[in-house]
Amino acid sequence: MKGTRTVDDETRLVEALRARGQRVTSQRLVIGRLLREGGRHVTAEEVLRRASEQLPGVSLPTVYATLDLLCELGEARRVSVGGPVLYDPRVGDHVHMRCRECGGVEDLEVDVDAARALRAARAAGFEAEGAEVVVEGRCAACAARA
Ligand SMILES: [Zn+2]
Ligand SMILES: [Zn+2]
Repeated sequence: MKGTRTVDDETRLVEALRARGQRVTSQRLVIGRLLREGGRHVTAEEVLRRASEQLPGVSLPTVYATLDLLCELGEARRVSVGGPVLYDPRVGDHVHMRCRECGGVEDLEVDVDAARALRAARAAGFEAEGAEVVVEGRCAACAARA
């Protein structure tokens, strides 16, 4: 029931925008949808490429601003794994694996207690905003090719 789910996500985004007093524009809805449908971990440039068909004349700064707004609304999160900043529609805590060869980023299903690291950082006087666990190495496809 992918179609139903998309409507739900869109409704949630509309409500999140309204709750923050933000305008609901087709630009924001299209970029939100592209992020959700684009597979995970996309760059702003990738979103721009996909968006330009539906949003003629849209610019990279606009795409960045919209993606940052989606992050503020809790509809996306930024992932920094060493390459360009990636935007991830999956906002819950999860771990990423990054391939050094192809640059691919995948989710890893494992329980990591990031909250503990954050607590320890705060206890040390650090104003912690987030913690990111990244597993680096070579993905299965690259390893098989070698
Ligand atoms: Zn790879
Ligand atoms: Zn992810």
